[in-house]
Amino acid sequence: MKNGNRYCREIAHGIFSITLPLPGDKPGPVNVYLFVGKNNVTLLDTGTARAFGALKRAVADLGLALADIDRIVLTHSHVDHYGSAAKIARESGELLDIAANFRNPVSIATGIGVSRKTMADFLALMGVPPAMRNIMRVLSVVFSALGDTCEVTTILREGDIVPMGDYDCMVVETPGHTRDSICLYHEPTGMLFSGDHVLPHITPNAFVMLEDGEVLPMRMSQKEFYSSIDKVRSLSPRIIYPAHGRVIEDFEAVVRMYEESYRQRDELIISILENNKSQTVYAIAGRLFPKLNMARLPLEIFLAVSEVYTHLQLLKERGAVETEISGGTLLVKAC
Ligand SMILES: [Zn+2]
Repeated sequence: MKNGNRYCREIAHGIFSITLPLPGDKPGPVNVYLFVGKNNVTLLDTGTARAFGALKRAVADLGLALADIDRIVLTHSHVDHYGSAAKIARESGELLDIAANFRNPVSIATGIGVSRKTMADFLALMGVPPAMRNIMRVLSVVFSALGDTCEVTTILREGDIVPMGDYDCMVVETPGHTRDSICLYHEPTGMLFSGDHVLPHITPNAFVMLEDGEVLPMRMSQKEFYSSIDKVRSLSPRIIYPAHGRVIEDFEAVVRMYEESYRQRDELIISILENNKSQTVYAIAGRLFPKLNMARLPLEIFLAVSEVYTHLQLLKERGAVETEISGGTLLVKAC
């Protein structure tokens, strides 16, 4: 077995970290992990469909073929994590198990697993101008280039033990970044594979959790994110392997970085609201992220609106802001 090339590194006996390209500079290249055991080969996340060739080469460098993979475990339903799963399934045949905390991903259409209508209604409510709402069409083009819909065969739940190579890993449900985010924990060695729940270099975006049939998200993504951080803390992992960026050995320092950046965003949002009357979420996002200029990638606009909204949910709970729906738009003002 060769390793040490630019895609691949053995991080523990029989566990290989493979870094795959991802367009854009945030959150950066995707780390997938190949567990090679005596009776089982498991791939944790797949990267995008565009990186399929790089994945195939990295696996070949280890003396294996994609058809040798018995199981794919997916940390969450974002296309940079499951994008190649369907292609791998075509090479591996029917015996491949695809395990995740969600049913089949439909996120290719809108990026977040709801219908285009739900996404369009949400963006309208956030004050995104009609011309910009074509955003969903653009997003679906972006996402469909990055992955194919895959068939999830095993639904993973809290506490399930999943044989991954020679390691029996426990499923830890960690909603926040998405509703279906999971970490995989190997208790004997203290290794935690965190997906996008814990990232070393940026604060994980707690995506707004839309539901088909609901006007506004009922779930509070940031609150769930911090509960999930507490859950990871209670495990006291020795070392964390994230889906983007470097290995994390100082979990508490990373959490302090998140808390500080969330606090700064809260303060900025309040200061934006103090100087003005009622504003839309889209207008607040435009001032919070001035470099975004609202003329950049539709995905960034969605992320900015989503981030502002999830902050507002908590600020509203704390009594710092109030909201009302007027003329089909959500208006926000400081209390
Ligand atoms: Zn993600």
